[in-house]
Amino acid sequence: MDLIDTLSPPLPALERAWAHRLRDSEILWEIARGIGGGPFHVVHPASFAENLDGMIAALAAERVSGTVYYGKKANKAAAWLRECARPGAGVDVASVPELVHALGNGLRGEAIGVTGAAKPDGLLWLALRHGCLIAVDAADELERVARLATELGVTAEVLLRVRPPSAPHSRFGFAPDALTVAVRECPGPVVLRGFSFHLDGYDPVPRAELAAFLIDLCRDARALGHPASKISVGGGIAVSYVDQGDWERFESGRNDGWFHSGRNPAKTYPYHQTPTGAAMVTAILRHEIAGKPLADRLRAAGIELLLEPGRALVDGAGFSVFPVLGCKPAEDHLITTVAGLSMSLSEQWKGSEFLPDPVLVRQDGPGGTPVRTIVAGSSCMEYDVLTWRAVELPARPKTGDLLVYPNTAGYQMDKNESGFHQLPLPPKVVLDGDHWHVDTDYPIQEIR
Ligand SMILES: *Cc1c(COP(=O)(O)O)cnc(C)c1O
Repeated sequence: MDLIDTLSPPLPALERAWAHRLRDSEILWEIARGIGGGPFHVVHPASFAENLDGMIAALAAERVSGTVYYGKKANKAAAWLRECARPGAGVDVASVPELVHALGNGLRGEAIGVTGAAKPDGLLWLALRHGCLIAVDAADELERVARLATELGVTAEVLLRVRPPSAPHSRFGFAPDALTVAVRECPGPVVLRGFSFHLDGYDPVPRAELAAFLIDLCRDARALGHPASKISVGGGIAVSYVDQGDWERFESGRNDGWFHSGRNPAKTYPYHQTPTGAAMVTAILRHEIAGKPLADRLRAAGIELLLEPGRALVDGAGFSVFPVLGCKPAEDHLITTVAGLSMSLSEQWKGSEFLPDPVLVRQDGPGGTPVRTIVAGSSCMEYDVLTWRAVELPARPKTGDLLVYPNTAGYQMDKNESGFHQLPLPPKVVLDGDHWHVDTDYPIQEIR
């Protein structure tokens, strides 16, 4: 089946003003020329800073002390890290290169959280040297942390990661019995600062409820002499990519006929949801457990709330640009091929689809007749497709036009990119006001 029976309703992305401005501006073409064509990504640290400040303010508004750690795996740009070198912020890492990247961009060890299961000794060693907050996942890891800390003559700042009762089959965190033992027998150089979890899904309620349980764990740990005063509710702060009406229309009518080869993805990100971002942080804090808001419980127990959002901090803070290579007819739609690979849109890589509509930026300006097209990558794999859904563009794309995928900074851009076909990885261009530069790993030339 290759026919696109009907066109799906549009899914225009919710975007920040900077993204509209840049797309309409000569600067986008200047960037394209400057980096030698494309594909490329644009990142906007000012939007990241806005998201971060919003969450820090949400904590302050409920009079809860805490720290917002950027879950670094969502996007590898260095530019975000420099924004995290501010009070109330930090970075959450899970590998030596991520830790080194954060340190090299000005984060101090005390503002870095180290998560991930069964961390290698090299990562634990570096984390201990820098006094990072280590979320320990299992009893054997706790032993290794204690041994390494003893060898180094330092104390280990530790959270114990709790396996959520709602996810008994999760491979992450301590099971209840193991947790009790770990708290009771916490070895010498380990300073037990508290507990952590990370939940699937984007609902504030289970996060608030599990956080309340972690407050009780801190109380019990204090009774055993531990200075437990921090709990981390992990990441999963929600993002909306499209507005509610568009998403409901799309979801209610969704069918195979909207997709090339009938490739209607079985599962997608919930592209509209509520609450999102800082409002979701507020919802977590205001959620009442046995009649008492989480914020009150945290304050009463003298406990700091740590958050590890990834996707939500880079929401609205980047887009991806693919130059059009060609366009040909297929049945009743077109196939537009762009320079670049579907690996730059990670949803495609896991058999899902990044659904917000791509936007055509034309060399010729307005005019023309609308067309329906799918979008393919420039590899020779049949499955290298950026958009399986037929989308409407205002005119037939021409070689050299730019196709922009909005709001891709969270897990799309660089999570799964590879050097397939020996193509270079798309550069990330940092937009700072009207100025741009290629993202650099460390602030070698200019400190700002
Ligand atoms: C992935 C991850 C995060 C970030 O998750 P988001 O959904 O991007 O907010 C935070 N903490 C841990 C432990 C993670 O594994």
